[in-house]
Amino acid sequence: MALITETHLRTLLVKGIPNPYLLKEGDRLTPAAADFLKDRGIALRSAQSSNPRILPGIPVGVSNRHVHLSPEHVQALFGAGYTLTPLRELTQQGQFAARETVALLGPKSIIQQVRILGPSRGASQVEISRTDGYALGIHPPVRLSGDIQGTPGIALVGASGVVVLQQGLIIAKNHVHMSPDDARLFEVNQGDRLIVQTAGERPLIFAETVVRVSAQYSLDFHIDIDEANAAHLSSGDQVQVIGRNGQIMSTERR
Ligand SMILES: [Zn+2]
Repeated sequence: MALITETHLRTLLVKGIPNPYLLKEGDRLTPAAADFLKDRGIALRSAQSSNPRILPGIPVGVSNRHVHLSPEHVQALFGAGYTLTPLRELTQQGQFAARETVALLGPKSIIQQVRILGPSRGASQVEISRTDGYALGIHPPVRLSGDIQGTPGIALVGASGVVVLQQGLIIAKNHVHMSPDDARLFEVNQGDRLIVQTAGERPLIFAETVVRVSAQYSLDFHIDIDEANAAHLSSGDQVQVIGRNGQIMSTERR
């Protein structure tokens, strides 16, 4: 494991730099070193790719319908000065399911006891499945969490108040959380799309799974209840990456 600098590469120039340049497990290049190789047309190859082995499976995390609330909306729904009470921790660091729930009030029906996830965030957001949308009588678009511009609103009923959201109702787009180390292993960047293969009784391929990278994230494939049911998946099952950005990878790299 090493940090490879441009200076180090220059010392190799004397005897010639192999092409492709082999990176050992954990090796990282400085941006200048990466440019140095690129300028000379030298490709990179990680040591892992020279021996055929499978990429690790990604654990599945199934999200039921849930609500994220701004601090103002927590108070509007539960009372002045109120803060959420953690009930249990979620797989992603710092995230928790709160003891508190709200009801979603749609034009066709009410869904009771919808879990609030904490901590509170900037803008309130409600994530439901397409099936929930039929029950409620609202049909929100599929969006990544946080991308709520132009989405429909919905009314929330809490223990001591009601909030009518003007926007923020979405069907969550499936995504994979990963650390920067995982991103290197899977050879992807923030915003790339993975092609994910499920196994089991009803194998399916999720062709456009968005990669979200953060040092706080642990490896997790997040899908909603409809997707989990369609693929016969449960939380803790494993899926395999078979491609990225629209391209199926050779079996050697899976
Ligand atoms: Zn997620």
